[in-house]
Amino acid sequence: MDLKSLIRDIPDFPKPGIVFRDITTLLRNPEGLRYTIDFLAQKCIELEIPVDCIVGMESRGFIFGAPLAYKLGSGFIPVRKKGKLPAAVHRIDYELEYGTDCLEVHQDALHPGSRVLIVDDLIATGGTASATATLVQKIGCELVGFGFIIELRDLQGRKYLPDVPIISLVEY
Ligand code: 5GP
Repeated sequence: MDLKSLIRDIPDFPKPGIVFRDITTLLRNPEGLRYTIDFLAQKCIELEIPVDCIVGMESRGFIFGAPLAYKLGSGFIPVRKKGKLPAAVHRIDYELEYGTDCLEVHQDALHPGSRVLIVDDLIATGGTASATATLVQKIGCELVGFGFIIELRDLQGRKYLPDVPIISLVEY
């Protein structure tokens, strides 16, 4: 399936000069959505990635991570922006182009030794995925791979990720 044709390009969003890859047009397409989740699941099976739980980042990582977890028979754990999770959290601060940001996960959500696949809609610079990987590894989990729908190859985000399988479906 030509997934790229289902992803909409929005020029100058969120600021001038940036082309935003909009996945809402993929999500609203029944065949496209099904294909995306099935493909990710199939790749995990083919690569024999052992997954105990999927960690997805706010907010588009939730959309793809949760159905993938369902399909693989694993649990889903949300990683959220600062102050959104109600119980005690582990936190990681990470650098953005301008300033810093912060991601949090519930302390009782992940356990040392759990095999974790990190899922997000898109990898650009790799900052978000790499911070999530550090968070997960600090807890003592075994990071087993990454799954993205879109990879912006020019930004070379995968260079900053640990040496585990990285699945991406569409490249720009
Ligand atoms: P990175 O941390 O790799 O630079 O950026 C990836 C994060 O930013 C992901 O969580 C992703 O959802 C968001 N993001 C950045 N650019 C885009 C884009 O063009 N389209 C979408 N859908 N998400 C983006």
